[in-house]
Amino acid sequence: MESRATASEDFRSVVLRGANVASYKFALAKSILTLAESGATSASLEDLAVPFSRELCAHLAEVDTQSTSQGSRFLDACRHFNAGVISEDELITTTALLGFNNVIDAFHVVDRADVGTRFFVDERTQTLRGVRFTEELLELAAELDRNNLLLAEAESRWRLVESAWDERRATGAVLRVAYDRPSEMIVRGMLGHRRSITWVRPGLSGYQASRCFYCSAPITPLLGLDHSADVDHFFPHMLMARGVLLDLDDVWNLVLACSVCNRGSAGKFDRLAHGDFLERLWDRNERLISSHHPLRESIIATTGRSPAARLKFLRSVQTRATDYARADWRPTQ
Ligand SMILES: [Zn+2]
Repeated sequence: MESRATASEDFRSVVLRGANVASYKFALAKSILTLAESGATSASLEDLAVPFSRELCAHLAEVDTQSTSQGSRFLDACRHFNAGVISEDELITTTALLGFNNVIDAFHVVDRADVGTRFFVDERTQTLRGVRFTEELLELAAELDRNNLLLAEAESRWRLVESAWDERRATGAVLRVAYDRPSEMIVRGMLGHRRSITWVRPGLSGYQASRCFYCSAPITPLLGLDHSADVDHFFPHMLMARGVLLDLDDVWNLVLACSVCNRGSAGKFDRLAHGDFLERLWDRNERLISSHHPLRESIIATTGRSPAARLKFLRSVQTRATDYARADWRPTQ
């Protein structure tokens, strides 16, 4: 029997890692979690189709690009439902028929191998004609409450992926995420188009194991809770005003920190973190890149094409930064 922590990490791997060709995996992840949370121990394809198509329709209404391939009869059915052309019953029937062709087979696959935990057993060819949830999934779902990030992370990653596809389709450009006060984080396309992306926070949190980047205190990327994270500039923003010609609002320089580290009485504010943290930033960025994170190309474009080049880049920024500030800040806790 695997530990609950392992099951949770495996679920995150399914959601956060791997190259995506369509957003169905996110919809399925959210669907099985919410069905299991409501007490179901299995789901026929028709049962699954209800939350699954609802998720896809909601996303399609905002971003029409939900797949890298041209044309999908299933997505067309969702569009027709959104346009009022077909009924909900027709949508459910079509979803059960066409929506799960690859995603049930591919769900557990990350980097060409299955993750260690199974979250459902495929019984499509048996009496159930659907999937049976495993104990591991039921346990994860039983812990879903407002502090559980699995649903938020799935939604966050989904929004990043669809934004990246949409941006590329519209402009051929690579998605950039930048930080902006007071609205916190925004996506900046090449055409100056701006869109609120506070949902990027959960996407970063998954790569820090929901811990403060500096002191490892537990944090949540969700806003308005006791342990809500701050978005921190590793290299402080003031360096730009002092002539460091780099866009420090880019995601490679943004980490999530607890409020004590970011702005407590001995907080970091505009100070420069001790050089010991430099490799931790490098490591975080490497994990973003190796997970096929939608922002990986943005990070690579700015910081270098190889892990060694990226470490060298960060060290050179650190060297320049120490012309303006001493690299001596450490968390007190
Ligand atoms: Zn902290």
